[in-house]
Amino acid sequence: MMETVLSESIIGRARRAGTISVNCVNIRDFTRDKHRRVDDYPYGGGRGMLMQAEPIYEAYKSVCADGEKPCFIYMSPQGQPLSQKLAGELSGMEHIVVLCGHYEGVDERALMLTEAREISIGDYVLTGGELPALVLCDTVCRLVPGVLKDDESFLKESHQDGLLEYPQYTRPEEYMGLRVPGVLLSGHHANIEKWRQSESLERTRTKRPDLYEKYMGDKEDAE
Ligand code: SAM
Repeated sequence: MMETVLSESIIGRARRAGTISVNCVNIRDFTRDKHRRVDDYPYGGGRGMLMQAEPIYEAYKSVCADGEKPCFIYMSPQGQPLSQKLAGELSGMEHIVVLCGHYEGVDERALMLTEAREISIGDYVLTGGELPALVLCDTVCRLVPGVLKDDESFLKESHQDGLLEYPQYTRPEEYMGLRVPGVLLSGHHANIEKWRQSESLERTRTKRPDLYEKYMGDKEDAE
């Protein structure tokens, strides 16, 4: 599942170019169970199965080459919410290892031994950590210099500076009676910039009042 998605599109291209490298590790390769099981019943009872600590820890050790301690992340609905800021922080790291949980989650000792940092992609629960890990990989990798063709392209995106991006248009100039705003056709860069900034503010105020409040508060503090 991971290999398929991570071989496609921009991330696949960056891997083939050697800008980033991604290695998928199958935890089943680290179990001693003859049926390659990596899960068991939770102590104390309760529904579902848990991933065992041993295969996770053995898999973790296999990726810690030469005593190096990578940033170890466990995708978890209990974790720190993923944000553009956090993605930017992670994109500067040399080596990240991401653990995808399954079933009811993982034995707590696996998290203790690996000193896992927990990251969530939102306040809802998925069946496994694969989709969250793909979301994390995608958002982090595209911020690594050289992954996007034009490194500038993410500097003016939604969430990069706390605001949502302004509306964008491409050809034709008119479609179904809807015209591209005149200022964008004017060639006047200062006016275009001013228009984009004001649209950005207005969009954030109407679509995400929470972000708008925060942005204005931070701006006030900085002044
Ligand atoms: N029993 C766990 C709990 O209540 O915290 C939820 C387990 S969930 C069914 C199975 C796995 O999916 C988790 O171990 C985690 O890796 C992943 N997962 C589910 N929701 C997630 C989210 N919102 N963010 C990140 N990972 C998530």
